[in-house]
Amino acid sequence: MRTLTRRGFLRSALGSAAAMCSSASILSAMSCAAPKVTPSTNETPRRVLADLHVHPMLNAWLRRTPIAVRYPILATIAETEFNPTKVSWQRCHEAGVDLMCAAHFNLGDEWLSMPTDPNPRAPSSTMLMMDLLEQELAGPAAPYATLAKNHVQLADLLRVRKGDPDFRIAVVHTIEGGHALGGDLEVLGSLARRGAASMTITHFFNKGIATAANAYPFFPDGSSPWPAQGASAFGKEVVRRMEELGMIVDITHASATAVRDVLDCAHKPIVASHSAARTLADHAYGLYDDHMQEIAQRGGLIGVILDPYLLANYADVTLAKRHGSLRDAVRMVRYVAKICGSHRSVAIGSDYSGYIGRSAEMNRLSQIGRLRSRLLKEFGEDEQVVEDIMANNAIRFLRENWRTGFA
Ligand SMILES: [Zn+2]
Repeated sequence: MRTLTRRGFLRSALGSAAAMCSSASILSAMSCAAPKVTPSTNETPRRVLADLHVHPMLNAWLRRTPIAVRYPILATIAETEFNPTKVSWQRCHEAGVDLMCAAHFNLGDEWLSMPTDPNPRAPSSTMLMMDLLEQELAGPAAPYATLAKNHVQLADLLRVRKGDPDFRIAVVHTIEGGHALGGDLEVLGSLARRGAASMTITHFFNKGIATAANAYPFFPDGSSPWPAQGASAFGKEVVRRMEELGMIVDITHASATAVRDVLDCAHKPIVASHSAARTLADHAYGLYDDHMQEIAQRGGLIGVILDPYLLANYADVTLAKRHGSLRDAVRMVRYVAKICGSHRSVAIGSDYSGYIGRSAEMNRLSQIGRLRSRLLKEFGEDEQVVEDIMANNAIRFLRENWRTGFA
């Protein structure tokens, strides 16, 4: 046995004491503990949700269509039967939702001019949808939400957190479906001036920009020679012009061939705002792993949709309706983070109030805390990782890549 000198003994004893004092469990049992740290009562609240894709105004817009004006009961039936996910400004404000990318989609402009021809009147509908949202935010929704027209206004709004009387949800214009252009590239300039942050270049049907994936079995894109065609020459022009204007290219709904074409011609980071991985959910709507990896490597972002049907392999929509759960979303978030190599490439694009299916546990966007709880369990109670996925990644992406809205 080694004999210690007196100096050696003292050094060893002091070293052991220091090590013991650095252990939290022993600190609490011994009187040599450091001063107690009391949690600050005015810590900045954690971010709740920055939703990359949500439809807060779709019901209101559909109620303005001529057929719904004439037969309001039809709109009521549609909302009740086919739009089970709800978005309320007040409830989302109370829940502390930080940001909503509000998607503008006009069904008539996409569907009534089928099969492939764009509707030249579509741009005016899009402007009206933007007007409607702005009127809502200046009127009934004013106590709860405010428009962010550009990334500077967004940063200002996000400085005020939940709990402050001035807290408002930041709302950003986005466009669902390149049919909104009506086949006219110049319309992108008008959308950019109004601050549209992003646009999905296609939606359910190919309107001359890119082939669409079949999101649901009852929406086959019969107008496209799917999946061979991809992005058209005009579609590639659209991508180029969007990048020039600082509008983010969204490849959600694009067929795999079109996603490849966009990746080949894009120079800036792109987003899949409300998507899923095809490996876990075998639908043409989802993204291939290598496409997700490339999007992530090039600084892009994947928003996970919260529609159980598109997140798993339910045999049909009815079974997804019966058994769909937030566990489908959690599993998808975990998988996308793994494939992309970082949780920082993943966000949430709920698609709530967009006539999607709901999970059993959450039919209101304001219940988003339930997803957060499940993600916390999945990610070992790591608050930072979950906050990044639910909000910080989307906010960072918008701040870095959204450059419209300064006219
Ligand atoms: Zn969509």
